[in-house]
Amino acid sequence: MAVLQELDALAPIREKVEAGERLDFEDGLTLMETDDLLALGELADLARRLRGGNDDVYFVQNINLYQTNVCRVKCKFCAFARTNKQEDAFTLTADEFVEDAVKQYEVSKFTEIHTVNGENPHVGLEYYVELIRKLKAALPDVHLKFYTASEIHHMSKLEDCTHEEVLSALKDAGLGSMPGGGAEIFADRVRRLVAPGKEPAEEWFDVHDKAHRLGITTQCTMLYGHVETYEERIDHMLRLREQQDKTGGFLSFIPLAFHPENTVFERRGFRFTTGADDLKVIAVARLVLDNIPHVKAYWIMMGLPMAQLALHFGANDVQGTVMREKIFQAAGATSGTEQKIEELVRFIREAGRTPVQRDSLYNELRRW
Ligand code: SF4
Repeated sequence: MAVLQELDALAPIREKVEAGERLDFEDGLTLMETDDLLALGELADLARRLRGGNDDVYFVQNINLYQTNVCRVKCKFCAFARTNKQEDAFTLTADEFVEDAVKQYEVSKFTEIHTVNGENPHVGLEYYVELIRKLKAALPDVHLKFYTASEIHHMSKLEDCTHEEVLSALKDAGLGSMPGGGAEIFADRVRRLVAPGKEPAEEWFDVHDKAHRLGITTQCTMLYGHVETYEERIDHMLRLREQQDKTGGFLSFIPLAFHPENTVFERRGFRFTTGADDLKVIAVARLVLDNIPHVKAYWIMMGLPMAQLALHFGANDVQGTVMREKIFQAAGATSGTEQKIEELVRFIREAGRTPVQRDSLYNELRRW
């Protein structure tokens, strides 16, 4: 009986998906509330295919490197940030960072460096510009995906200039694209609870808006599984969809499951998200975000087996080899910090999909 009711609830949404109609807030909520996970996954996969998707699953050969973990903000979900005085705080010089990156490149010919940092109050815009310039000179063929919107906003406050000016300076130095962090959950209520020191959602959107208009593509994210409601998740997705309608510069959406270890939430009894919730978020994102081409199952966050399942729930990207990830590891992720290409290829194939190595802008480099 319960299953029949679930099917009834999803039937009008299926009709909309099949007709190519856009889903609204209520549809999103219905999807979030369903317990019929398999029907949800099938619907998300159908939507992905109807919008032009095929069996290709993407990954990139990349490395995560960090300039500084010093941060003024103190988000309650963060286990990465340090104050300048803490023993394990670090702020690398441009030369130290470049030397390390070049050494790593000799070992593993990655095509992308992904870098996000704390909002360090002790260094200015020139610190970042110098690093990008030197890195681009040392590794001209490597794509630099650097700095969240929160970091860009922080730089603009420090320098008393606009987001556009910061982005232009970084782009001139060699910035390729931007990651999607800092979005958390856009609703004010949640932001006040989990990241009171962070910029309001409007600033996050303004940075991405300006980046897209300057020709810098970006990613977008949602950190879920803490204090947000289903309504706030759907509101978050709809705001992203609206921005994408305006500028079209989001390449992918990456749901990030909250990891409570080593954060104040761990002491308050918060637990890791469940696999069912992770799959649900992937599927609902694919259904609601009809204008963002790629949905990532980030294996560092959800583990390889669950990421494999997510490929049948609307995801078509597993991010990449991701050497040296530190942020989720600090918060208790147990999935490791690196995957070899052969292993990613194997697990994509065993999910019945076609592994495609891509560059940072989704150009195909190799397929298996
Ligand atoms: S999430 Fe980012 S901004 Fe917030 S405390 Fe951690 S490093 Fe700082």
